[in-house]
Amino acid sequence: MEFQRQLKRDRNHQRVEEQLSKRLTFAAGMPHTLIIEPGARCSLACPFCPQASDNFLLSRDFLKLDDFKKIVDYFEDSVDTILLFNWGEPLLNQSLPEMISYASEKKVHTLVHSNAIHLTEDLAKKIVKSGLSEFVASIDGASEESYQKYRKNGSFQHAFGNLQSLLRVKNEFGCPGPRIVWKFLVFKHNEHELERARLLAREAGVSIEFKFAVAPGEYESSLEEFNNKNFRDKFIKNYDLPCKQLWKAPVICPDGDVLPCCMVSNKKYVVGNLFRQEFREIWNNAQYQMLRAAIAGEIVEEGALYCRECMFGPNSVK
Ligand code: SF4
Ligand code: SF4
Repeated sequence: MEFQRQLKRDRNHQRVEEQLSKRLTFAAGMPHTLIIEPGARCSLACPFCPQASDNFLLSRDFLKLDDFKKIVDYFEDSVDTILLFNWGEPLLNQSLPEMISYASEKKVHTLVHSNAIHLTEDLAKKIVKSGLSEFVASIDGASEESYQKYRKNGSFQHAFGNLQSLLRVKNEFGCPGPRIVWKFLVFKHNEHELERARLLAREAGVSIEFKFAVAPGEYESSLEEFNNKNFRDKFIKNYDLPCKQLWKAPVICPDGDVLPCCMVSNKKYVVGNLFRQEFREIWNNAQYQMLRAAIAGEIVEEGALYCRECMFGPNSVK
């Protein structure tokens, strides 16, 4: 049974990659990755986060465990990876560990990106036991002062202390997973702390990744590797461009709305609803095909403009 399921997933994965290489607008394969929003809410207010702005126009509900299970069951033969985060803080959904456990039982890889503020000791134990594949903690700074300039309402001590607890629990349980990563967005106000962060990471025994953000004005780093100069080249180096999400990784909101990609934060770009329609109808509807055509450079219609103008879109490699 398990072998058969894996075989189907592998065949689907291969099919998706073939279609991607040809940029076909009709996607015969099913997605092999899902981005599922546990709940678009957060107690922090990072300046560039759409979820923290009044213009955010998607559902603020928490995803229900039963709905998550139905989604996993529906995609059982095609999906091998689920990203359990999108716009909000995933740990706020009380059912998150059970969701991860359910996906793990079906041999689906799961990834969580979190601010780690709500990662209590009890939750850390549940997360480690759930079989999560990867936990990425977003902590941009190595002191309270620099951290709070971007992660507003957060606390460096709190986030970093929780990350250390997660590492300790993982070691105590002797579990191979999850892979734990400290992600550090480099801005002007924290660029002097890279060495200190490296040291803290080494002492804690966690991998650290420094990432560049296309940050405007006062936030832009002065370091060559992390500033906005030649950002297209940096994007090309850091990402697989142009964007491939339309062929392999739709976003599913807690109310069932399907978004074509993780850049969308407005209901007007919803392409369908999984709780009211068959996914296969949505996957190749006119809107989806038009967006794929836009990425392939075929047409420029108003509804596809956001792909043409996106920094991950076709213009990113010109
Ligand atoms: S921690 Fe994440 S979800 Fe929360 S406001 Fe910041 S970027 Fe948004
Ligand atoms: S090009 Fe941008 S807007 Fe279009 S699907 Fe990709 S990430 Fe989304």
